[in-house]
Amino acid sequence: MSIPEIITTETPWTSNYEAALKQLHADPEHGLSAAEAVRRLDLYGYNRIESGKKINPLMIMVNQFISPFMLLLAIAAGLSFFFQEWLDGIAIMAVIVINAVIGFFMEFQAERSMEALKKLTIVPARVLRDGRLSEIPSEELVSGDIIFIEGGDMVTADARVIKSTQLQTDESALTGESLPIEKNVSVLPEKTPLAERYNMLYKGTFVTNGNAYALVVQTGMHTELGTIASMVQKAGQAATPLEKKIRSFSKKLIWMTVILLVIIFIAGIINGQNLVQMMETSIALAVAAIPEGLPIVSTLALAFGMLRMARHNVLVKKLSSVETLGGTNVICTDKTGTLTQNKIEAAFIQINEGASRINLDIAGASIKWMDGNEIEDRAAYDQLCCIAALCNTATYYSEGGTEKESGDPMEVGLLKMVYCGHTKQLDYIKEYPKLDEVPFSSDTKVMATFHGSKQGYYIAAKGAVEELLHSCTSVLEGSEVVALDESKRNNWLNYAEQRAQSGLRMLAFAYRNTSEKESYFLHQLTLAGLIGFIDPPRPEVSQAIAECKSAGIKVVMITGDHPATAKNIALQLGLANQEDEVMHGNAMKPYAELTAEDKTKWLNTSVFARVSPAQKLDLVSLYQEKKMVVGMTGDGVNDAPALKKADIGIAMGQRGTQVAQEVADMVLKDDAFSSIVLAIKQGRTIFDNIRKFIIFLLSCNMSELFVIATAAILNLHFQLFPIQILYINLITDVLPALALGVTKAAPHIMERKPFSSSEPIIDRERWKALFVYSSVIAIATISAVFASHGLLHADEAWNTDLCNNILFYTLIFSQVLHVFNMYFERGVSFFKSEVFTNRYVWYAVFACTILALSAYWIPAIRDVLKITIHGWKDWSIIIVFAFLSLLINQLLKRLKVII
Ligand code: ATP
Repeated sequence: MSIPEIITTETPWTSNYEAALKQLHADPEHGLSAAEAVRRLDLYGYNRIESGKKINPLMIMVNQFISPFMLLLAIAAGLSFFFQEWLDGIAIMAVIVINAVIGFFMEFQAERSMEALKKLTIVPARVLRDGRLSEIPSEELVSGDIIFIEGGDMVTADARVIKSTQLQTDESALTGESLPIEKNVSVLPEKTPLAERYNMLYKGTFVTNGNAYALVVQTGMHTELGTIASMVQKAGQAATPLEKKIRSFSKKLIWMTVILLVIIFIAGIINGQNLVQMMETSIALAVAAIPEGLPIVSTLALAFGMLRMARHNVLVKKLSSVETLGGTNVICTDKTGTLTQNKIEAAFIQINEGASRINLDIAGASIKWMDGNEIEDRAAYDQLCCIAALCNTATYYSEGGTEKESGDPMEVGLLKMVYCGHTKQLDYIKEYPKLDEVPFSSDTKVMATFHGSKQGYYIAAKGAVEELLHSCTSVLEGSEVVALDESKRNNWLNYAEQRAQSGLRMLAFAYRNTSEKESYFLHQLTLAGLIGFIDPPRPEVSQAIAECKSAGIKVVMITGDHPATAKNIALQLGLANQEDEVMHGNAMKPYAELTAEDKTKWLNTSVFARVSPAQKLDLVSLYQEKKMVVGMTGDGVNDAPALKKADIGIAMGQRGTQVAQEVADMVLKDDAFSSIVLAIKQGRTIFDNIRKFIIFLLSCNMSELFVIATAAILNLHFQLFPIQILYINLITDVLPALALGVTKAAPHIMERKPFSSSEPIIDRERWKALFVYSSVIAIATISAVFASHGLLHADEAWNTDLCNNILFYTLIFSQVLHVFNMYFERGVSFFKSEVFTNRYVWYAVFACTILALSAYWIPAIRDVLKITIHGWKDWSIIIVFAFLSLLINQLLKRLKVII
């Protein structure tokens, strides 16, 4: 086929779709060939929106220098140069550079992690290629492709509708119009505004109802979404509540530090200290004591946590969700696919004359009848197969021994059954071309299709048994159609109930032949029979549910399935007891009408069946009214409101519609319930870790403040030099804090109750511990100086430099060892704690020790820091007192004086 290099359709809504197809050399029956698709992809490029915001390392670097802390340091350096303290000046400049480099790497890493997370969301598209409908990454769509979309899908390119069935889209993302818009194949005037182009579909919008085939006319940056670049470059992530808490907390600390600094400064001046020296000390202390790095370290911990979760199939879309996860105390989960394996297989057939379990042999394309193969010869069974093949939007075929499938797993299960039968799906489709459809919705719980046939028309319908029975007036018995009276109706309901009790998911099938074309056709149907599907529970779920129980998290099953099926699965998973009642959707009043008694009943129920999406929303409202933090799973387009309202909306990566995935806070790539529990555990761990490094950083900083304040107020003859303070912080603030940020979960983390969002990061108990830790370190440090003098140099005059050095090193080592105090679970032994067993903590301790000693080993640094220790005895004092501080703090922990 010779086609021009670049094919465009400027105004595809102005001509009929045949013209558009012709213009783009597209074939509505077969789609593009694979080779032609590749050629066009080379020509047009990938179908993606290039985000305008790229990580700019230079800007990140420049930003490091524009902070009040850097300014303070610059002033300190300036002062040093002014008073010709060259070495100090240069050293402070070095500190500025090192700080900036560390800050740069942390921020760069955080940005990169966020970018990596964004890339994890790839939306698939269903496209007709080489005559087959298959699923490809939407990035590979090209102009001329024929796509198939249905309710819940995201439109992934601009496309002209060529065939539609009750298609409605939500274009609010593009036009701001929040009501669903009906789409069709009409021809429109050229000047039609975007919001009224009813024959066009636009990238980034959603299908809320129906389905359609459409011709891709523009991709990537050429789409409407691409051209409105500003819409795409969404604002950066807003600060999470935790980050906000940390920021306001840091502000409070600044004030506390400033007050202490003023006291130290005044005491120094009163005691006749050098003014410049005191100013420099104050600045160094301000820089050291104010935890300006906290927000970025916590962002980093959150981002790393998100990446770690992504490796475990959990995609968390917002940083703030990680925190909310930690506090989740009720999980509302659906059943199919989350608690069960979603390998839905037809396993049972009931027609009027009998019932049989069946086993599909895909390799041999045959059905094994376990109880009665005479069913195979019945008219009702033929009807079942015909309905299963026609009333279906999934695809299934076996090619060269490999199975290809897409669409709803239960519908795929039906197609597999058809595949194993006498007549193939394609033959049914040829005989009965589809003309219209009532798409499946979890509200109606039924689906129906309208087809042309040799005799006239044929209607195929399937759905939840009690729902479809409402539309049936007759039943196929043998080869006769007889009226479906009340007793027959009850019989069928009983058949379904009995099978559901054994865990089968039951679906009813009905049909009607008619001679006239009807627009409303879901009535006066003839029931053909029932098919039961098995969908066994996932093996790991029982354990995950038990874990939730011990973690104080309530698990509630909310399913659209039959109550008996729901109960059977709930019993198998330990989610409910035999005596527990299942609440039926019919028995659930609207939220506004609930009495206190109803509410209590709802709160005490753990299995809800035949629930509509609106009722899911009501349940979320009720839990939130009771101040619970709700995680809610959902997959359908109608679940979107409940997902949005829940504190954590959880969508399914495999089964979920793209709409659900878009509005959810978290996407489970493997659809598994146990991943939610894993994510909650991660959320708790991250919160714990953030707490750990905040406490660690603050207690280290406070211990410095205490040491300096004591020396200044008591007018001791030794003091830390400003440059030493900066050095201590370079060593102890960065690596141990980062290592704490990646600590594994504490041993009993899932046995604790969820933390409440109103709980402060540092509660009273932790403030007390913080104060005690810092005091112990400060006292041990100052005692080391006196011990060294008393034990080793009693008969010499006080050696100010030596005293200073002992102060310096004892403080460093005490702080480095202090990292091992950072576990807060009672009853956990020191050696088994998550910190002691964290190898990164050990790496950090090792690296810090080397860095600290290099100040002694490297002459240049030694000179700047004025290090002059000579004998091993003084070193021993330093080491003993550093360990002593750890020992005392451990003892106080053991005695439960502190946490
Ligand atoms: P869960 O909410 O746990 O995922 P579910 O899949 O049964 O359970 P829905 O998808 O809302 O929930 O389905 C509700 C009922 O509608 C099902 O139990 C089944 O009887 C019927 N049903 C489901 N899918 C289809 C379909 N594709 N066509 C016709 N009926 C369906």
